[in-house]
This record gives sequence, C-alpha cells and structure tokens, in this order.
Amino acid sequence: MIDVKKIRKDFPILERQVNGYPLVYFDNAATSQTPIQVIDTIVDYYKNYNANIHRGVHSLSQEATDAYEAARQKIQSHFNAAHPYEIIFTSGTTHSINIIASGYCELLKAGDELLVSALEHHSNIVPWQMLCERTGAILKVIPMDEQGVLILDELDKLLSNKTKLVFVNHVSNALGTVNPIAEIIEKTHAVGAEVLVDGAQASPHIQADFQSLNVDYYVTSAHKLCGPTGVGMLYGKQAALEKLPPYQGGGEMIAEVTFEKTTYAGLPHKFEAGTPNISGGIAFGAALDYMNSIGMENIAAYEEKLLVYGTKELMKIPGLKIYGEAVHKTAVISFNVGDIHPYDIGSILDKMGIAVRTGHHCAQPIMDFYKIPGTVRASFSFYNTFEEIDLMVVALNRAITMLQ
Ligand code: PLP
Repeated sequence: MIDVKKIRKDFPILERQVNGYPLVYFDNAATSQTPIQVIDTIVDYYKNYNANIHRGVHSLSQEATDAYEAARQKIQSHFNAAHPYEIIFTSGTTHSINIIASGYCELLKAGDELLVSALEHHSNIVPWQMLCERTGAILKVIPMDEQGVLILDELDKLLSNKTKLVFVNHVSNALGTVNPIAEIIEKTHAVGAEVLVDGAQASPHIQADFQSLNVDYYVTSAHKLCGPTGVGMLYGKQAALEKLPPYQGGGEMIAEVTFEKTTYAGLPHKFEAGTPNISGGIAFGAALDYMNSIGMENIAAYEEKLLVYGTKELMKIPGLKIYGEAVHKTAVISFNVGDIHPYDIGSILDKMGIAVRTGHHCAQPIMDFYKIPGTVRASFSFYNTFEEIDLMVVALNRAITMLQ
C-alpha cells in the first residue's frame, strides 16, 4: 500500500489554497502535478549543466547529452522497448501522432482504409482526417456501446486487406475506459496492418510492455505522468520507424548535407530535428523514476480504490448520471447532474477550491454519441485522498442546490 500522506509532501502545489480553500486537484487526466524531485531535476539542469546536446566536445554538453540519453534509456526500460533508439523524444502525444500521420502520407494510396476507435481524443482523429484528405484513404470508425466500451465484433467486420493502420487509445480520456489493446493488436496484425496506441491516459496508471504487446507505435506525454509539459515520446518498432520518412528537416536529423543532396541520420535522430526540450527530456526520466519508486502496481491498486469510492459516493446524488461504465476503467469519473450545464458545476466547484474539468474533453464524437454538450470530469491520481472525494461531494451538493 502507498503512503499518501508522505507522497503528498513531494507535491508543493498541493499545499496551496484556491479561493480560500485547500486545493483539491481532480484534473489529473488533463495534466498531473509535478513532484519536487522532477522540479529539482529541471532546476539542476539550468543551474549546473545547461548546454546543447550531441554537438559539443565541452564538458557541459557531454553531461547534458549523457543525462538526455540516460532518460531515453529509462523510458525504454520502463516500457520494455527492444532498443533505446526506438524511443523518439517529441513535444507530446499530439506531436508523436502527427509524425506518424505525416509519414503515412507517403505510404497510403486512395482507397486504403484506416480504422479509428469511437473513443479517441481529437489528437488521434484530426491528423488522420487531414491525411485522408491528402491521400484519398478512407477513415472508418470502430463503434462503442452505451457503457463506453468498443464493440470488437464490429472491428472484426471492419478489418480487411484494405486496412493499413488502426489507431486506438489505451485508455479513454473522456470516460476512463481501458481498451483491450492486446486483442486489437492481434486482430489487426492478422490482416497485415499496423496499430498505433495513444497511451496518454494509460501511462500514468498502466505500465505497458511494448515487446509483449507487440505494438507497432505507442505514444504518450510526460505531463500526464508527473513530468513537465512540452515533452513526450513516440515509440515505434525499429522496422516501423525506418520505413517512415523524416517529419521535419534541420539540424540533428542529418547524416550529411550538401546543396546537391542530404542523407538522413538513423534512429532516433532522424525524427529529432532541432534543439529539443533537453531539461524536459531529462525530467521525463526523473518522473518515471519517481513513479517507479512508488510502484506502478501500487499506484493502480490505490487509484482503483479511489475510483470505487468516488463512484459510490457520487451515485448517491439524485439525478447524477455517470458516463463510461466499462468494467475496466482508470480513475476517471465523467458525469452530469440533471440538465445542469457542466460548466456551471465546474465554476462553482472552483470557488470552493476544487479543480475538475468540464466540457467535451477534446472528444466531441463521444459527447455526440451521448447527445450531451459535455460532462464534468473528476480524474484521480495516487496523491489524492478519500477525504478530498468527500469534499467534492459536499461542494457538489451545494452547487446543485444553488443551480436547481
Ligand atoms: N490523447 C489523449 C487520450 C489525451 O488524453 C490527450 C490529452 O489530454 C492527448 C492525446 C493529447 O496530449 P498532448 O496535449 O499532451 O499532446
């Protein structure tokens, strides 16, 4: 079991007040909070070895390069990728997906099919729509049911030798559904297509094993798992990445440049043009160290308890409806109360120091499915407590009384 009281001391922000109340931070699915160990890693970089990487012979540059490459290895080992060069540093999930979508532009022809799950974040929909417009490829949707669970029988019907790529999130940000990615990968590989898994919501809770999943591409953002914003990763199997063209041209990604012809660097540099977010990459590694010091299984077990408790307490509120009732869920509760607009609830909760997200959560197709404008979303992390859930329920009851 984890020691939440001790863990909370690592997060300076959790001590602050908001609108005169102690902060209750339940917007972890949007961005998680940052422990002092990660903050100190960034400060240490700028104080002691700030320098550009890969290019310098001087000591500072070498120290920075070593720390950056050590972070890449930490990510490789955390997710059990076969090689460090299969981990590409990016600015986050959105950037990672766009790298693959842009590369796929050269691999697709009109009439090829791409399958998207009904549970996706806009960042795993829009780049593919743009790609279809450019190539004439066709986007088809794997539907979901009322519980927010993908209908795998429909996937079986959609898969064919025209399918080139299936993209699905590991966990839905709007509903918390954990998707059966191992099964989806197996079914997709059976028709010779590839799978991209958006792990932005899964990686704070579930330690994916890339080799045993046999996934082709897996992407995430550091800020979802106690790391800084503006940095993330794209994992691709070596063969999958090698067949994609570079995304951007510039420094770092070349082998040799002449005015007649440029040759490209190998992995991972081929996809890492320009000066990256160096302190962010190093801090991404520190964030994984931090999560691993607590233990991913301990984190998941504790968050499951928060989910069960939060669901039980919220369900006591008359008129409250929860969206997303999959058996396998992470600690995300999306809900509405009667016909009160989610924004109104979120604003009143904020007045009492409680941070929840309201709106469509960048997943408008899910909201359209339920015929609602949006939801209130409370998303828990391992540093949240049962008492904070109680505070939210009290505040919610007050908000409802004011709004009805
Ligand atoms: N995919 C999912 C499932 C997400 O939850 C998010 C962010 O909320 C993203 C993609 C986009 O992540 P980023 O904004 O870090 O690129």
